[in-house]
Amino acid sequence: MSTLPPPPRSAYVHVPFCRHRCGYCDFTLVAGRDDLVDRYFAALGRELERVPPAGLGLDTLYLGGGTPSHLGAAGLRRLFALFGARLRPAAAAEVTVEANPLDVTDDLVAAAHDLGVTRVSLGGQSLDAATLVALDRDHGPDDVRRAVDRLLPAGFTVSLDLMTAAPGQSLAGVERDLDAAVALGVQHVSVYCLTWEKGTAFEGLRRRGALVAAGESLERAMFETAIDRLEAAGYEHYEVSNFARPGARCRHNETYWDCRPWEAFGPGAARFDGRTRTTNHRGTIAWMNKVLAGGDFSGDVDAMTDEQAARERVVVGLRRRDGLDRAAFHAASGHALDALVGPAIRRWVAAGLASDDGDRVRLTRAGLLVSDALWGDVLA
Ligand code: SF4
Repeated sequence: MSTLPPPPRSAYVHVPFCRHRCGYCDFTLVAGRDDLVDRYFAALGRELERVPPAGLGLDTLYLGGGTPSHLGAAGLRRLFALFGARLRPAAAAEVTVEANPLDVTDDLVAAAHDLGVTRVSLGGQSLDAATLVALDRDHGPDDVRRAVDRLLPAGFTVSLDLMTAAPGQSLAGVERDLDAAVALGVQHVSVYCLTWEKGTAFEGLRRRGALVAAGESLERAMFETAIDRLEAAGYEHYEVSNFARPGARCRHNETYWDCRPWEAFGPGAARFDGRTRTTNHRGTIAWMNKVLAGGDFSGDVDAMTDEQAARERVVVGLRRRDGLDRAAFHAASGHALDALVGPAIRRWVAAGLASDDGDRVRLTRAGLLVSDALWGDVLA
């Protein structure tokens, strides 16, 4: 039996507003509906009443979306005022705000600084004009450069999202993006392969033959190139999609990957108490209406057994390059790794997909490339 988890020291707040919905995006958000901002603040204030009056002392606070920076400097100040004493980042907390490069004005930078934001995650996606058009983004490469040039001198840690396998993108194009990201001097890079989510404009265009997906071998080559180039430039590849300069790992995401509990607020936001993951209603307007009517605003409730939680811990652990330390896994989960998933580990090691030094199991690069196909062996 594992012990009860400690209270959350991390919180996520979902801000569901964007100027425009990018063609590939299926996130919880409303585009072009700034008329709903006041109602969102009212609903968020009500949801924050779930937090005991003493408030939550936080080591990490993450504002994601949607596009939190779309609220502008005044909106950001209003948001932190709403948190009040309920969400209280500690002195050395990591406080992240996701931003669209177009929103990073001097006013926004000043507000973020005043509010104790330490880290800005920039949805750049590419530094190539044609790729940004192909991705249906509303900004250009120079907007990304300008944003970084405002944020780095102001002392923020900057994370840049890059996308691979965009329509028409070549391997050489990905190489140029990676080199450009390194040249910008950002401390953290997240690299994601475009996924064709059901119900998105891109998926409809692909079905009609108007957009063509990159082949699997090109996708893999792009991913391997990202690892090679960023590692050569001094970034540590610390999770499947994430690269950081020494000391610049995202502490908030490490909470998720360590399976520590976290709180979450806003439409579609998922919280975890160590056993149960509860996801708020994914419809932005439905969430607002339900919260303000005093109704049940949860969408999915995923209550895991002790064993299911341990199996999930295996998956998130192996997505990290540090892998799984047997002793730490046992201490955290109450389960012996080999009793739980020994046969799967032995199969992966035999196939060259994982390494095992007796203390620690890690996926090899070959394993990382097919990692999504491995998890069925563990979660079944
Ligand atoms: S800016 Fe980000 S959250 Fe908003 S629509 Fe585009 S991809 Fe989705």
